[in-house]
Amino acid sequence: MNESAGSPSERRPSGHCLCGGVSYEVHGPIRQVWNCHCWRCRRWTGHFMAATGCQSSDLRLVSDSTLSWHHPADDPNVAYGFCRECGGSLFWKVTEGPPDQVDTIAICAGTLDPPTGLHTERAIFLDDAADYHPLDPAVPGWGQQ
Ligand SMILES: [Zn+2]
Ligand SMILES: [Zn+2]
Repeated sequence: MNESAGSPSERRPSGHCLCGGVSYEVHGPIRQVWNCHCWRCRRWTGHFMAATGCQSSDLRLVSDSTLSWHHPADDPNVAYGFCRECGGSLFWKVTEGPPDQVDTIAICAGTLDPPTGLHTERAIFLDDAADYHPLDPAVPGWGQQ
C-alpha cells in the first residue's frame, strides 16, 4: 500500500498550528467547511471562522503541549482552543449542553494539512459578519442581514 497515493478522502485528516505546538489527526469522518460569522468567532479569529468538524472522540491530539482553552465569560458553555505559543486558532467546542453538541468539535479548516478535499458548504450568522467583508453569494447562508 502506497500512503502517498491516497486521495484526500482516503487520507487521514491531520493538521497543526503555525508553530506545531498543537498537532492532531482525525480518526473518522469530517464534515464540510462552515463559515461562522458570529461576533465571537469574528473577534476570536480576527475575521470569521472557517471550520470543519468531527466527533470529539475521533480527534487525536498528537501534540497538545501549547494548547489552551478560552471560555467566554458571557457564554461559559463553549470553549475556543488555541495555541498559546503562536496564537493559532484551532478548535471550538460546546462544553455543556445536549450530547449531540458536546460530542462534536469544530476544527479551524486552515490548520488542516492540504489537500483537504473539502469545500465550503455554508455560511452562518451572516448578521454578525463584518461590514468590510464581501460575502460569497455562491455559499448558502442563514442569518441574512
Ligand atoms: Zn502554535
Ligand atoms: Zn461562531
